[in-house]
Amino acid sequence: MWPVLFIIALAALAGLHFWWRAKFRAQQEQRVAEIEASRQRQQQTSIDAQAQQKILFDSMLEGLLLLDRNRKIHLANRAFKNLFNLKPELRGKTVVEALRLHELDELLLRVEAEKQVLDYEIRLPELNERWLRVNAAVINNSAGEREGTILVFHDLTRLKQLERQREEFVANVSHELRTPLSLIKGYVETLLDGAHANPEVAGRFLKIIERNAGRLDLLIQDLLTISALESGAMKLNRQAVNLRALAERVFNDLQSKAENKGMKLVCDLPELTANGDPHRLDQVLANLVDNAIKYGRANGTVAVSGKTVDAGLIEISVRDDGPGIPPEALERVFERFYRVDKARSRDQGGTGLGLSIVKHIVQAHGGEVRAESEPGRGATFFFTLPAV
Ligand code: ADP
Repeated sequence: MWPVLFIIALAALAGLHFWWRAKFRAQQEQRVAEIEASRQRQQQTSIDAQAQQKILFDSMLEGLLLLDRNRKIHLANRAFKNLFNLKPELRGKTVVEALRLHELDELLLRVEAEKQVLDYEIRLPELNERWLRVNAAVINNSAGEREGTILVFHDLTRLKQLERQREEFVANVSHELRTPLSLIKGYVETLLDGAHANPEVAGRFLKIIERNAGRLDLLIQDLLTISALESGAMKLNRQAVNLRALAERVFNDLQSKAENKGMKLVCDLPELTANGDPHRLDQVLANLVDNAIKYGRANGTVAVSGKTVDAGLIEISVRDDGPGIPPEALERVFERFYRVDKARSRDQGGTGLGLSIVKHIVQAHGGEVRAESEPGRGATFFFTLPAV
């Protein structure tokens, strides 16, 4: 009896042992699977976080550069690469290898010495005269050791260009105002000093004063127009404009000026209707025809023509047969105060703002303006307008 009981107990024990082992192994496998799943989750979270970080950095307008403790690039965002026209992978390279800019080496040395450098300006003539403002700081770990450096680059180029344009504009305006003003002042002083006693001299001086006061008035009107156009304060009163009727009105106003130079005004316009502000379009055409008379050949011809070009667009041209415009000045004549021949323009009472006003008005209508010229054979100005 005992041996049987003993064998049964032994078998039960062995069964229990195998059951426990199987259960233990299953538990262990489950734990391993859980650890693996958790590791994969962590890895995925870290990949997601990195992707989000990259999206965030790449959406920044400022260039961002992160360097590790060996001054090698750890991260450079899209704006940074665009700023320096860099395409390839930069990770692991030094700043010198990636950019070859000694201005940045200087900055890095300063940051490491001073821990932080703010508003450091760099001018890069080799990159189309770019201006950058850099804020840089050292990143320390909890033990206070340098882990890396962060640099944030702001592109100041547009701001600097605007600043320069504004300075040039102020200088030009002052110069333009000073010329007629000093003439007026000079002649008034001469009159006060006794010239008024001679009626013939006084009359001549007063005429000069009147002409220069007129120039001042014209200049101020043009400046106000430019300022209203540039600030967008001028609203267009759009309506259907018959271009032939417009040209005839402009010719009528300028007829006597053309006759004084023995010039012929020719209207070659077919029946065309533009969608625009009649007062502003009058200003455009009057400026172009006036220029053609001013700079055209004495006894020559000024012709206005037009046609419908594709996509509901009308193109008008104003042609003269004068000396024309040199190729290098064809685009520049639309800049404020640009004149090919300064003395000639002033002589003709020009302010140097007419074509700039023309360009602004045409662009406000959604059109474009350009000039073509064969020097010695005349100039043609083209502008487009939306058709009705
Ligand atoms: P301005 O008041 O000097 O005429 P604009 O802006 O109207 O100023 O013109 C700028 C310059 O473009 C002129 O000074 C002149 O040198 C040149 N220009 C304009 N129209 C003509 C033209 N039809 N033929 C030759 N040069 C021209």
